Amino acid sequence: MLSENDGLRPVVAYFCMEVGLDPALPTYAGGLGMLAGDTLSSAADLGIPMVGVTLLHRKGYFRQHLDEKGAQAETAATWTPETLLEAVPEHVSVTIEGRPVRIRAWLYGLTGISGHTVPVYFLDTALPENTAWDRTLTDHLYGGDSHYRLCQEVILGLGGAAMLAAIGYRNVQVYHMNEGHSALLTLAVAMELSEGSSIGELSQVTMNAVRRRCVFTTHTPVPAGHDRFPASLVSQVLGEELTSALQSGRCFLDGILNMTYLAFSFSHYVNGVSMHHEEIAHSMFPNYPINSITNGVHAVNWTSPSFKEVFDRHIPEWRWDNLYLRYAVSIDLGDIREAHAHAKQALMNEVRERTGEVLDPEVLTIGFARRATAYKRADLLFSDLDRLTRIVSRAGPLQVLYGGKAHPNDDGGKRLIQSIFAAAAALRDKVKIVYLEEYDMSLAKYVCSGVDLWLNTPQKPFEASGTSGMKAALNGVPSLSVLDGWWIEGNVEGVTGWAIGDTWEAESDPARETSSLYDKLEQVIVPMFYQRPDEYSRVMRWAIAINGSYYNAQRMLLQYLNNAYVSTSGALWSPKYPHEYDHG
Ligand SMILES: *Cc1c(COP(=O)(O)O)cnc(C)c1O
Repeated sequence: MLSENDGLRPVVAYFCMEVGLDPALPTYAGGLGMLAGDTLSSAADLGIPMVGVTLLHRKGYFRQHLDEKGAQAETAATWTPETLLEAVPEHVSVTIEGRPVRIRAWLYGLTGISGHTVPVYFLDTALPENTAWDRTLTDHLYGGDSHYRLCQEVILGLGGAAMLAAIGYRNVQVYHMNEGHSALLTLAVAMELSEGSSIGELSQVTMNAVRRRCVFTTHTPVPAGHDRFPASLVSQVLGEELTSALQSGRCFLDGILNMTYLAFSFSHYVNGVSMHHEEIAHSMFPNYPINSITNGVHAVNWTSPSFKEVFDRHIPEWRWDNLYLRYAVSIDLGDIREAHAHAKQALMNEVRERTGEVLDPEVLTIGFARRATAYKRADLLFSDLDRLTRIVSRAGPLQVLYGGKAHPNDDGGKRLIQSIFAAAAALRDKVKIVYLEEYDMSLAKYVCSGVDLWLNTPQKPFEASGTSGMKAALNGVPSLSVLDGWWIEGNVEGVTGWAIGDTWEAESDPARETSSLYDKLEQVIVPMFYQRPDEYSRVMRWAIAINGSYYNAQRMLLQYLNNAYVSTSGALWSPKYPHEYDHG
């Protein structure tokens, strides 16, 4: 329970199905969870009163095992919340299929550079008073069928709001739904505003009052990516009153509850996660005003130790004001080269430790690591093995590091991993290719900072933003990427990196993209890397100065404050300046 005073302070409650905070907590699957963790970390740095709410995921996402052909097997990533998180004494209930399901919470305190702490609550139904099945509801991230998923979303949205109230948060000014999984929280806000009377028939007044409190960030540029539940399942799980509330709010379309529509209908501010994603989202949902706030990554979390040391020496302000990274223009190219060589060696040591594979630090090393799923097209680089072989023999050697898990039900993603293994076998002796198992937050830190070139080949327009190229940029690693997501904004050709294809407007054309990818490697990147290393180091420096200074979570969160939380931000936040920090 918070003290009365703390409970009355205005806060932003940030809800997300997955949150990645710490390598020891396997509570995330990929970019969405990393983004949530980086957002909460930046709130702690800036002293923004925010609390995070997510599910515990007791069995984790999963552990990945790859055989010699790249076939993926999975086991549970069981962990012990009891030893890593603090138990919260408050318990609450939600009603699922007419029966009460009890929920407890576990607390992770994120303390930022200003000394401010952002609490993150992990909801857990593994309580003896629940049925055996209900106890499993907070076990699996993105596991189970749509019935299981809807029950989880009841826990997250309705249970999360109830838990915050029970803990003592009396003044949640903004509910920020990071993706639609938590959209049922809008019903909890409606119930709170209705003070106990039925919400079966939502009035315009109530809906407007809910909207004033809610903010929604959508992350998915394809309709199939949005959670949808048939009306019969919704009424079975939620019961009559909440179902009719959803009906009166016109959240069903053709008998289907679409969580994205629900979140749209009850939010006063909605955004996509890049300039282009705003347009895509607008074409999918033409009746709603949509804004954009491009994603960013937590600069200090994602910068390698060697670059931290260089930044601390040249621009010590960068830690509390990431905009100072623009001054990286003043860093000696020699310092850039040396810091990168350290990060590259650290990566190669890690690879040797994990796999026994020895990579050559002199060779241009390409990195490609992210969730293995069809639209990311991890195998585009291997579309024409003869051409790739010719490039290597004419322009200079290459080695490639891969990583990424496929969702257990994603057969296309699993086949992609196997095709990388097949290409690695076919190119043996010509291009060294290593696929790293168990790509996660700790491995990402090595890979994004230690390679020389970050490759990204999404099929347009499926990459709403993408964030791993931003992690690379902070470490001076330029991207070679299809023009989609953040790279449309981040690419200055030949300055911060290189584009695959020459326009972002057109749909993906794999043949043209493949030839552009090979042309850039053969004619521009490989020759620059080997013959004009100073020029390559200059690109690295621009990647930091132009993209590192902007594509960080601090800039992103300040944009949320100014644009999305704006109606309340005056009361919500006053900046704390470095000289006020307690450095003791
Ligand atoms: C940053 C990160 C991602 C996101 O990758 P993108 O393809 O750039 O969206 C996924 N997984 C992990 C472990 C990450 O650290």
